[in-house]
Amino acid sequence: MNHPAAVPTASRENVLEGLADIVGARHVLSDPNDTEPFYEDWLHRTKGDALCVCQPADTAEVAAVVAFCAARGLPVFPQAGNTSSCGGSVPLPASGGVLLSVRRLNRVERVDPQNNAIIAGAGCVLADLKAAAAAEGRLFPLTLSSEGSCQIGGNVSTNAGGTAVLRYGTMRDLVLGLEVVLADGRIWDGLRTLRKDNTGYDMKALFVGSEGTLGIVTRVALKLFPLPTLQATALVAVASADDAAALLRHCHGELGSSLDAFELLSASQLDIVCRHVPGNRNPLPGHPWYVLVDLQSAERSQDLTARLEAAIAGALEDGIVADAVVAQSGAQIEDIWRLRHSVSESNRRHGLNFTHDVGVPIAQIPEFLHRADAAVAEAFAQAEVFCVSHMGDGNVHYTVTFAHDTAEPAALGARVTGMVHDIAMSLGGTFGAEHGVGQRYRASLRRYKSPVELDLFRSMKSALDPNGILNPGKVL
Ligand SMILES: Cc1cc2nc3c(=O)[nH]c(=O)nc-3n(C[C@H](O)[C@H](O)[C@H](O)COP(=O)(O)OP(=O)(O)OC[C@H]3O[C@@H](n4cnc5c(N)ncnc54)[C@H](O)[C@@H]3O)c2cc1C
Repeated sequence: MNHPAAVPTASRENVLEGLADIVGARHVLSDPNDTEPFYEDWLHRTKGDALCVCQPADTAEVAAVVAFCAARGLPVFPQAGNTSSCGGSVPLPASGGVLLSVRRLNRVERVDPQNNAIIAGAGCVLADLKAAAAAEGRLFPLTLSSEGSCQIGGNVSTNAGGTAVLRYGTMRDLVLGLEVVLADGRIWDGLRTLRKDNTGYDMKALFVGSEGTLGIVTRVALKLFPLPTLQATALVAVASADDAAALLRHCHGELGSSLDAFELLSASQLDIVCRHVPGNRNPLPGHPWYVLVDLQSAERSQDLTARLEAAIAGALEDGIVADAVVAQSGAQIEDIWRLRHSVSESNRRHGLNFTHDVGVPIAQIPEFLHRADAAVAEAFAQAEVFCVSHMGDGNVHYTVTFAHDTAEPAALGARVTGMVHDIAMSLGGTFGAEHGVGQRYRASLRRYKSPVELDLFRSMKSALDPNGILNPGKVL
């Protein structure tokens, strides 16, 4: 179901003037040279348009902007770092709305080591927030390749995942409290740092992952953890995805809670990471699958590298592992991690990609790969397939690639995606494990969610945004 925003009643000039009165004229951008980067996603796939980009400085200004738009029936498109992978962060074409950027709400307000909590504005860049926590001897564990650009409000609104979910959970597990501007401009102050609070419905859980369709996140309280002082990393070659699944079970048993990341890469994926991004090298060529295993610990007494080596030696003896390199220095750890963090860049350079963000129960990952590979090979002889998986979370980024100049990419993408999503869903999975729905996966939402769940979604949307002004055209 669409929730079209009410028909805008204000002229463009009136809107720009009214918003300038709230945030200051220089924080309302309307020149195409200034607005272009806000209206297009980083993949150059989804492009939209708005009356202007409005950049409030604080919660009061966000509330005033939203109230202004609500009074005139203007759609509001919230944006943080604009690294969304599913077209969630850009306005619709000819939207007639206002892009509300939270990037000026970028302050880390308080690091509280005693309470293991941090409070920051929604526009705080993830890497800056992590650095502020680290300066106080604390870890904020969310780890994404986009962390130099994405911002906390976006991370909350997408319920971001990344490479450390295996140990620390997704953003939903890391949020203690939120401050949110509602669709009518009122402010909900839920910015608590309590670990326990069973007094009524968990409102913050509703806003996490709602992709800007239920409210605008302005400030965030997050959990912190002891800062790890030790790290050990290995690149492990395995003969099959089944062996990778067996290695994951082995690592859980041998390494317990120090297991931080378990990332599966196909040989095809690693090949193009080395081909397109300078400085990358596969130290173990000639195998079909690779796993990046990472351990971290705040306990100084441990020899993590020795523990990792022992665990891998056991797996070699059991015949699960074909070969492995364990990093012996910080530089070697970085070299191994660079392979993983180069995936998005290399894929973008390589061709016309249809990347999927499916999730299946961990034990079903090999079956998913087997079925998807067979289906793609049968339907698209000219396609290449790359796979990188947060395997410890059951999350697979399954990319089907064609030549850059392939004809009718939209129709082709719909076919490929329908096929990949059908297979994931048939295995009890999801079509969107961590990136969300945005614009790109709305058809899948309608296709796979039950009528009851869709009804519940619509009820929540109507309750919180009855006029449909918040991020219309996304999710529902
Ligand atoms: C190289 C690369 C690697 C990535 N790796 C991962 C990964 O491993 N795991 C993962 O989960 N994601 C990953 N992503 C996707 C992306 O970085 C995340 O979804 C991130 O959380 C988006 O944050 P952002 O600040 O860029 O939000 P945006 O892209 O600006 O917005 C994302 C969504 O949130 C809404 N929104 C933004 N700010 C607010 C707000 N203050 N209030 C309400 N709604 C808001 C937007 O409307 C949009 O729907 C990756 C992206 C890139 C480019």
